Amino acid sequence: MDFVSHTLWGYSLFGFRGKPAVALISGAMPDVVSFGPIVVTNMINGNYHHGPPDLSTIPAWTFVAYDCSHSLVCASLAIVIVAKYNTGVAWAMLAWLAHIFLDVPFHTKAYFPTKLFWPLSDFSFDGVSWGNPWVWFTQLALLTALLIYRCWQSKRRTS
Ligand SMILES: [Zn+2]
Repeated sequence: MDFVSHTLWGYSLFGFRGKPAVALISGAMPDVVSFGPIVVTNMINGNYHHGPPDLSTIPAWTFVAYDCSHSLVCASLAIVIVAKYNTGVAWAMLAWLAHIFLDVPFHTKAYFPTKLFWPLSDFSFDGVSWGNPWVWFTQLALLTALLIYRCWQSKRRTS
């Protein structure tokens, strides 16, 4: 799924109990640590182009970063550790898990499959690409409805 949608899903699902910045960052983080350095490097080198880069041009460490940041094992471990010290931050960090669960059905095995249990297993699901218009516009409609609901909920609480 695209970066902006992931960020807003994280916020709308887990940013309403306080710590909205943590939810925003946690929703975006898995893709930022995986693809951010490539995007920045390509922009500096003048090689940036919109759209997914060819797999043969992507450095090996990106795949490791993707697998780690998109693993339920890694995310759960980090969240459990944070929960020992601050449950509010840990709650907002659940946006990280939401990111992973949204990527599982909407990534194909051909391009960055989401290995849920990495490093214990390379199991992944061969889903439908999030670039499919039916998938993307459906998630956009659901996300918009959830954001409207959160705004309504927030105004109701303050009035
Ligand atoms: Zn992702």
